[in-house]
Amino acid sequence: MKEALAELELAPLLPHEAIDAGAEEELFRRLAQAAAGEQLRQRWEAADGPAILQCARCQESLKPLGRRRKQLQSVCGPLPLERRVYYCQQCGEIQVPLDQRLGIEQGGMTPGLMRLVCRTALELPFQQSQQLLSDTLGFTPCSAREVERVAGRHGQLLEQSPQLSPVPQLGKARYCLAIDGTMIPGLPDAVEHRLRWHEVKLAVGFDPRKVRAPFYVAGREDAEHFGQRLWQQLQSHGLDHNGFQLILGDGAPWIWNLADLHLPGVPQLLDFYHAAEHLFATAELLWPAAQAKRWWQRRLAQLQQGELTNFFTVLQRLARAHPAIDADSGPARLLRYFRDNQDRLRYAWASKHHLPIGSGAVESGAGHLVQQRLKQSGMRWSDPGAQAILNLRTLHRNGEFEQYWENFAAAGF
Ligand SMILES: [Zn+2]
Repeated sequence: MKEALAELELAPLLPHEAIDAGAEEELFRRLAQAAAGEQLRQRWEAADGPAILQCARCQESLKPLGRRRKQLQSVCGPLPLERRVYYCQQCGEIQVPLDQRLGIEQGGMTPGLMRLVCRTALELPFQQSQQLLSDTLGFTPCSAREVERVAGRHGQLLEQSPQLSPVPQLGKARYCLAIDGTMIPGLPDAVEHRLRWHEVKLAVGFDPRKVRAPFYVAGREDAEHFGQRLWQQLQSHGLDHNGFQLILGDGAPWIWNLADLHLPGVPQLLDFYHAAEHLFATAELLWPAAQAKRWWQRRLAQLQQGELTNFFTVLQRLARAHPAIDADSGPARLLRYFRDNQDRLRYAWASKHHLPIGSGAVESGAGHLVQQRLKQSGMRWSDPGAQAILNLRTLHRNGEFEQYWENFAAAGF
């Protein structure tokens, strides 16, 4: 660093001279980056002593091929590293112990840079990630495709290598669980070439006292696989049905099937705002605005106060009075909707126990966790591609991002 500065022969600043601080900062940072890169190169090469190795595949002794140079990409810029390369004459396997120890993969990116790439790509589209990385690092570390590849690789590792997944440190709390689905654009249909929307399923565990931070589980998959994912995550959190006070959802049957299967006995509650929407739609269909609103408010009051017998009596009478209306929001459908959920209407009980009656937590989660990154114009997601980014985003939002990179280093990938 000192030598590099001496070579620059910078004149000292005069007492009243204008200072282009931005340019000076950039200059000094680049010097520091280059100097640090050189230090890393020397340090890592010095750690690469000769070794007698066996082939990992066939146990044959490996033949040393000498040192080979590989251009790494690091947070300090390009880093030409000479590493000892070994070859198996039996099966053709090549081994580079230093690469393995450093966690360097085929593309030659260091874990420090992979971490930055993933951190950026979980927030921004790949092209923007690449541009932001280039602007902030002061050099172009990789292409946008490489950003996509690296983020996809680590998102997949999270999926496939349980030993890399951080074990979360959840404190003692009794959580509420809100579950919902939200749509993202999938790959176009191969035959019809039409845009297809796919559902991402999302669960948010939150502490109603707001002492503990919420946690998220997201899956681009069917209900059965999502149930397994959720269950595995809860197990790794040390949570079972005893850890939950309440499960909130809209009327979607898969949510309740999943709750019955994995969290039996936990009270279930139909999201109050979905219930209110259904009631309002029917009222609007039957009466002028003012009358509809009065009817609607009386029904909401009945629900909130736990007057369920009266509530159902009114709905039954209404369905009998309008048997001909078979619209989505007709009285008969409304009655069926509430009957299907009649054990999930305990709003008075929930309020008494200071529990939420709406699944706002999961709806805001759907917005900031899923849609903000995956539902931008022009995006088309394959299922594995979407899942990889969802994995990185939930990892980060669950506060486990740094732990993952420690696990990655320890696992020696
Ligand atoms: Zn071999």
